[in-house]
Amino acid sequence: MNQVIQADVCIVGAGPAGAMLGLLLAKQSDLEVVVLEQHQAFSREFRGESISQGSVVILNELDILDDLKKHGFLQVEGLEMYDQGDKIFSVNFHEFPYEQKFIIDLPQPVLIGAILDKAGEYPNFHLKMGATGVELIEQHGQIKGAVYREKSGELVTVNSSVVVDASGRYTRIREMAGIPAKIEHFKRDAVWFRVPRPEGWESATRIKVDGHQHLIILPTYPDQLRVGINIAKGAYQEFRKQDISVFYDTVCRLEPQLDGIVQQHIQSWKDTVLLDIFTAEVSQWSRDGLVLIGDSAHTVSPILGQGVNLAIQDAYELAPVILDYLALNPESVIPQEAFQSFQARRQEHVGFIQAFQADQEKELMAESDEDMMKRRMKMQMLNQSPMKVELATKMAYGIIRENLIHVH
Ligand SMILES: Cc1cc2nc3c(=O)[nH]c(=O)nc-3n(C[C@H](O)[C@H](O)[C@H](O)COP(=O)(O)OP(=O)(O)OC[C@H]3O[C@@H](n4cnc5c(N)ncnc54)[C@H](O)[C@@H]3O)c2cc1C
Repeated sequence: MNQVIQADVCIVGAGPAGAMLGLLLAKQSDLEVVVLEQHQAFSREFRGESISQGSVVILNELDILDDLKKHGFLQVEGLEMYDQGDKIFSVNFHEFPYEQKFIIDLPQPVLIGAILDKAGEYPNFHLKMGATGVELIEQHGQIKGAVYREKSGELVTVNSSVVVDASGRYTRIREMAGIPAKIEHFKRDAVWFRVPRPEGWESATRIKVDGHQHLIILPTYPDQLRVGINIAKGAYQEFRKQDISVFYDTVCRLEPQLDGIVQQHIQSWKDTVLLDIFTAEVSQWSRDGLVLIGDSAHTVSPILGQGVNLAIQDAYELAPVILDYLALNPESVIPQEAFQSFQARRQEHVGFIQAFQADQEKELMAESDEDMMKRRMKMQMLNQSPMKVELATKMAYGIIRENLIHVH
């Protein structure tokens, strides 16, 4: 017989979404919150490291920003886009009208560690590391908990009022719940690598475009750049058969400032990582007793690094729904209707991000001279438009901006 644990909330996955939700629930109530994480540690590579302004506001509210300051992070102060070396678009984050103006960049394990440390201050928060969610408990169409497998192989049952699937882009929980997702593979993947940041490099994200190729260059804590280059979907193995000098040539044509650095620090394909780019759209994020958040509900593309931001803001929006329902109806299964307005609110913002990213990807793929010219003109017009800061503010702060006070 499985060991059995009684809880109010069982969260599967301690990424940014699951860890943040666990903290918010444990802090604001005496609900018993169990968080399952399949890994024993958080040493992850090449995950979202950029935390957008809206999430920085939340981290500040929860006193986590001060802990992150003690560790150290990089402040990203703008975004610039270049076409064949000409700057065609830029956003200066100093112009944002709120107190937290900048993206912060730091390794994801540090962020998650800080959130979980804070959550660990509450006796009703229970983190289970090395615990893989393997089954949902279903009775009469309602989800009543989950079963996890410990590293020893032992199975443990968690009975709960709600299971939150925060298990990321490769979620199996969503499938177990029978919730369909529309998976759309982008026509291109990205190859990522890291190099030291050259002396005097500005603290801004750079997008360098030439024809249908582009680099995304992200200043990264403490003194690096994370660089992504697009390749055709599924072409990584073919790409790796080429001499590495072809890769150097492409990178340096797009960003001449990396000449010398990329050759010195990327000595073989092993120093690169593939990111398979796909999006997942889910039309129903919940069932009786279960709700999805973060990548599991909406995998987005890495364009403008919004994955972590959306995950944290989902948690922030979902916490009061769970708290309110269980305050009035303790120990009962949370019905699907209770999650509808949460989903509608989040979907509106996620839809905006997904549409913007799809549009950007289409622009970046422009092949013909005419399309490239149109792209250049479109970005230059947007650069002059008063809509620019408004659009960038919506992207950076998400719906959190509705609660913020203008500082100028
Ligand atoms: C290679 C890569 C590069 C990325 N680069 C960027 C970027 O540059 N910028 C950006 O904003 N975003 C990036 N992302 C996306 C970003 O990391 C995610 O959007 C964000 O982490 C989503 O948070 P989440 O909490 O929903 O999911 P995740 O961060 O994926 O967390 C899910 C957690 O659930 C755990 N888990 C999974 N299944 C189970 C299970 N059955 N039982 C228990 N635990 C389970 C996982 O181990 C993981 O810890 C990248 C993602 C990947 C994979």
